Amino acid sequence: MSTPRDIDTRLAHPPQDRDPRTGASSCPIYQVSTYHQPDPEHLARYDYARSDNPTREALEEAVANLEGGARGLAFASGMAAVSTAFMIFGTGDHVVVGNDIYGGTFRVLTTIFRRWGLNATLVDTGDLEAVRAAITPQTKAIYVETPSNPTLRITDLAAVAALARERELLAITDNTFMSPLLQRPLELGFDIVVHSATKFIAGHSDLIAGLAVARDAETGRRLRQIQNSMGAILGPQDAWLTLRGLKTLGVRLRQEQRSAEILARWLAGQPEVVRVYYPGLEDHPGHDIHRRQASGGGAVVSFELATRELAVGLMKGVRLPLVAVSLGGVESILSYPATMSHAAMPAGERAARGITDGLLRLSVGLEDVADLQADLRQALDAAARPQ
Ligand SMILES: *Cc1c(COP(=O)(O)O)cnc(C)c1O
Repeated sequence: MSTPRDIDTRLAHPPQDRDPRTGASSCPIYQVSTYHQPDPEHLARYDYARSDNPTREALEEAVANLEGGARGLAFASGMAAVSTAFMIFGTGDHVVVGNDIYGGTFRVLTTIFRRWGLNATLVDTGDLEAVRAAITPQTKAIYVETPSNPTLRITDLAAVAALARERELLAITDNTFMSPLLQRPLELGFDIVVHSATKFIAGHSDLIAGLAVARDAETGRRLRQIQNSMGAILGPQDAWLTLRGLKTLGVRLRQEQRSAEILARWLAGQPEVVRVYYPGLEDHPGHDIHRRQASGGGAVVSFELATRELAVGLMKGVRLPLVAVSLGGVESILSYPATMSHAAMPAGERAARGITDGLLRLSVGLEDVADLQADLRQALDAAARPQ
């Protein structure tokens, strides 16, 4: 594995930046299930593709290199990566989890893992004392998302990592919203980073993939044992597409972030907009912490309109953004957390987290920012007109 250099250089030159056999400029897609064994008494490096596939391995090495971890693993989805991290723990164990996490993570914790006997306490991880107070003798890990989804609340990663170390817990984070371009939690003391690579990392809204990176080899071995046993692996075609997406992560996300910041400031000045959530705004709660631990506000802006009718009207009126679940694509995506990403969360829980019926989440894509702004303006006008 190459030694860390500038992140842009690492994106353009992943550890396997040329094929050792042919010099080919990208890793071949090893579309295989099994490998001939010349010596059946001593199996070779590759024996079965659930365990090891060279294309998947190239992606796993690439993400480990970007996050600065000992071991990367690629999964069939972000949820497979998230679930694998929780499968480290067993019946009777306890985890402290952010209360503003991705809806699917909330669902898997409160259904499957509850049945499995893993207990979770949800707290505002932006409040370190609340995290500390939730730790019990059974606690094994702290799991956070920052910025969180969809209200982009900020958690101090270094402080959580220090608390976890002090209490001998694993510190785990979902870094999907930032990607390793903008935030590298392992460098701040975290033990495991997970990603929905479906979003910014692959970046083109054309596949589902998940990644996990462990800081040390032993944690990596535990994750790998689950990956190999459960079998929720990423296939070689999607591993290859994810590798391709990674190469342009820098130019895509920086451009999207520039536009997001412009749109966040513009939205804050529109009369129909009650509130804007964007970590790049100086008055966003936790802005200073975010600036210390990440190199930008990212490309996701959430904003609240006064009523459900206005929010629905805006979604029906926009022409450029897809109105859809997901984020991180080259096209802007406007999501409605109440019925999409957070539909699995009971209405009461949603309301307590600021996920009102007027809340919209905009993942800013690569369109011209003036075109996006004009489109949002005409859709706001249309939404406000009596039907
Ligand atoms: C989308 C998403 C996930 C789930 O990833 P999938 O690839 O859809 O399984 C997990 N966490 C966050 C923050 C996400 O945005």
